[in-house]
Amino acid sequence: MITVMKFGGTSVGSPEALQRVAKIIIDGSGSKIIVVSAMSGITNFLVKGVDGLPDSRNDLIEEFEKKHADVASQLFDGESLAEFMKDFEERMGRFRNLLSDEAASKDPYYKDNITSQGERFSSLILSHVLRSAGVRSVALTSEDCGIYAEGRPLSGSADLRKSESMMNIKVKPYIDEGVIPVITGFYGIKNDGLPLTFGRGGSDYSAAVVANAMNADLLEIWTDVDGFMSADPRIIPDAIKIEEMNFSEAAELAYFGAKVLHPRTIEPVRIKHIPLKVRNSFKPEEPGTIIHHLRRPRDDMLRSVAMKTDLSIIAINSAEIAYHPEMVARIIEKIAENEVVIYSISTSLSTVAFLVHSNDVKSIFAKLNTLDPGDIERIEVKNDMALVCAVGDNLLSKCGVSAEIFTAVKEAKANVEMISEGASDVSLNFVVPMSRVTDVVKILHNKYVGSESDEGL
Ligand code: ASP
Ligand code: MG
Repeated sequence: MITVMKFGGTSVGSPEALQRVAKIIIDGSGSKIIVVSAMSGITNFLVKGVDGLPDSRNDLIEEFEKKHADVASQLFDGESLAEFMKDFEERMGRFRNLLSDEAASKDPYYKDNITSQGERFSSLILSHVLRSAGVRSVALTSEDCGIYAEGRPLSGSADLRKSESMMNIKVKPYIDEGVIPVITGFYGIKNDGLPLTFGRGGSDYSAAVVANAMNADLLEIWTDVDGFMSADPRIIPDAIKIEEMNFSEAAELAYFGAKVLHPRTIEPVRIKHIPLKVRNSFKPEEPGTIIHHLRRPRDDMLRSVAMKTDLSIIAINSAEIAYHPEMVARIIEKIAENEVVIYSISTSLSTVAFLVHSNDVKSIFAKLNTLDPGDIERIEVKNDMALVCAVGDNLLSKCGVSAEIFTAVKEAKANVEMISEGASDVSLNFVVPMSRVTDVVKILHNKYVGSESDEGL
């Protein structure tokens, strides 16, 4: 049995946290492969620092080194410290060289290279903590493992097939020998061997890629919360922890609301039917949430109600736009140039409306202004919108569900501004004004989560 265990920034963020994590790893059964984020705060520090280069170079490297050396000095002494320092100095040397390499700084992927440095050091520290506890372990970078990635700077995707064949050669022998690899999350390497990061929070995705490549039996994402919740507990104090759900439900929830898991974590494990558990490293006795293929019949209509605030609807009017799909395509292409996320699209005869984050409105306008003026008659923007995402397995195959949900929305005196239904069979998404959204979530949660839905459904 192979388990991939991923530990996030807070789980490896202090000497105590690292000791706790080492115990979790040692207590686990079967073969284990570890994936880690950078220590908490480190990636933010690097992201900020990189913009000040080359002037900030000395401060950056000094502070970076100090942060890691301080943690190490509290964890190791004598021989274990000497052993650690040997590896540490070597990696610091490479980082220093990278920071003074002028040619490298001109590479469009330079930021990927700098911001991926945190993981190289957290993995090194954790691997040495395991070793000093008497466990055989090796710290491996994504370069060492052959985790391959492709895509634009700062937003890579893994090449699953290539990573699988490389990792079988480079990582599998360690597993067979009983050695625990501690692998860098957050980035892979391009065909030229240089780093490409998977986007912020991407270590969860890395762990899923490793689980996929190694054909693991289980993926455990260890974080600082108990698991997925039926709603945000800050809004719904009696929100309950979700014990199990299927991949589709988890993917929708991760994407639309809950910040428990990076949304891209699901796909690499789903395609290989590898179950995923979300666990709390500060409370290892808690079972967490298990996400798998199972579709068990349930009584309650909704698994969870998530919400996303600070959104805007941009409605573009143009006569008979429905008869001009090429124009819709042009508009979408323009918006996509900015790499903004479009949460929902809806069309009518002469309108196409997009739901986007309010921060993106300005840049979208700038792009739309470059379209042929004949294309667009009018653009309207509605700010202060919120998206409600009601998630439940097989939700839309049950007759009358929408009527039930929108009756509840009416009770909250909220006007529905936009609806997206049917795009996924596990969720019903709609937009209401931000001022009403918490009431909507409260009423829906109260009525349909954790209790039996009304008769007739
Ligand atoms: N360290 C990276 C970040 O902060 C990746 C991660 O934590 O998942 O975004
Ligand atoms: Mg994270």
